[in-house]
Amino acid sequence: MRDAKQMTIGGMNVVTSGDAEIGRTAAVRARLGLALELIDETTPRLGARMRHDLNAIYLARNGGIGYNPYVRVINLDVRSGMQGEVEDLALCLVHEATHARQAAMGVAKKPNGKLEARMEAHAVAESIAFANRLPPGTWHRPTVADLDTKWWTWENRSTRITEAMREANLPGLGVVMWIIRTLRMLRLVR
Ligand SMILES: [Zn+2]
Repeated sequence: MRDAKQMTIGGMNVVTSGDAEIGRTAAVRARLGLALELIDETTPRLGARMRHDLNAIYLARNGGIGYNPYVRVINLDVRSGMQGEVEDLALCLVHEATHARQAAMGVAKKPNGKLEARMEAHAVAESIAFANRLPPGTWHRPTVADLDTKWWTWENRSTRITEAMREANLPGLGVVMWIIRTLRMLRLVR
């Protein structure tokens, strides 16, 4: 696998996995820059907090969008990074950054339905608050009804992980281990 690439976009560490360097990846990085700028303009405090709570945004070939508390990174795959408007990407970052904040405050995700539901409700509430500050547009406005899909449950998450593994052609925890190894190499985590 080719080496991962590290750079700073708008003061945020962005690590691109070696295998994620495909045509659209440059476009995702440009969108990331715009999304971070939008966050800084809309809620400067949140922008500063994100950079403090996160080690990096990890641009991956697969795996969707999610926060990984073990390495303190937001995983963003190329396809998700291209979806919707820049506002949609910013809203995703705000959501995941809320999980980074929760982790920084010592609230760890446990296989505990009630706690996880509360943590997701908090992340959705933060993204709704952010959306309320945005000028209207063609982006998707988050709502409390989004919580009905219960994406954080064990069943839904394992389906998603299995799909990502199949896409990435990796067995078991391959994707997560690869991310950890890469971040260690770059000395972003111990
Ligand atoms: Zn969440």
